[in-house]
Amino acid sequence: MPSSESETTPLGSRTRMPVGFVAHGAPTLALDPTRGADFRRWGEQLSRPTAVLVVSAHWEGQPVAIGTTERRALLYDFQGFPDDLYRVEYPAPGAPELAARVEALLGRATRRVPTRALDHGVWVPLVHLLPAADVPVLQISMPSSLGARELFALGQRLAPLRDEGVLVLGSGNITHNLRRLDWRGTGSTPAWASDFDGWVADVLVRHDFDALVDYAQKAPALRENHPTEEHLQPLLVTAGAASQGTQPVSFPVQGFEYGSLSRRSVQIG
Ligand code: ZN
Repeated sequence: MPSSESETTPLGSRTRMPVGFVAHGAPTLALDPTRGADFRRWGEQLSRPTAVLVVSAHWEGQPVAIGTTERRALLYDFQGFPDDLYRVEYPAPGAPELAARVEALLGRATRRVPTRALDHGVWVPLVHLLPAADVPVLQISMPSSLGARELFALGQRLAPLRDEGVLVLGSGNITHNLRRLDWRGTGSTPAWASDFDGWVADVLVRHDFDALVDYAQKAPALRENHPTEEHLQPLLVTAGAASQGTQPVSFPVQGFEYGSLSRRSVQIG
């Protein structure tokens, strides 16, 4: 295994890629042309990446694990959804060169799990964002037990990949309390959700990453929005990868679904 960055060859010098955070929401997004349209528009205005690296709320593990580097059948890691959702395919190529670069950038604190396929936190947004499924995709686990500061630092260590044409994506939701969802979608958005979503948007626009990392102390109504924090934590990785220099922040997808589930997705750079 390479032990330093210098032992692997960068993937190629390209225009610096932005970083993103995708709100994957309910997996039915993959089948929904209306909700998917925002992601398609977003994808159309991105430069074509050399590869995509995703940290999803649905694969936690410390030390960082590197998933499959081959094309594999997807994980349908949810229950109780329409049959069509279990037939969605996203046959993106694997990204073995990117896996080697990630190992180089993170040092020896990684492990390989070659049988681990892409989970729905990865493929649900990518079905719309990069619908041709022709860009290599790699998923790594999120070392959520390390906490906010270390997740931010993980993003910082991955940041050089942006100059190699890699699109680094966190996948989760800025608000995520499944017990408080209005599945019929008839209600309005409660203040605890819109306040939290607005707070995150504000700290991102102001590049106040210190406040973001300190969300447990500073954000309003954390527990109502995140009984557990795994859907928020990928945003820390995204922010870390974006933290060098001041770069434009935009929200290509916004709004709420099921009352309180934020659809806010983020592009920085
Ligand atoms: Zn999820």
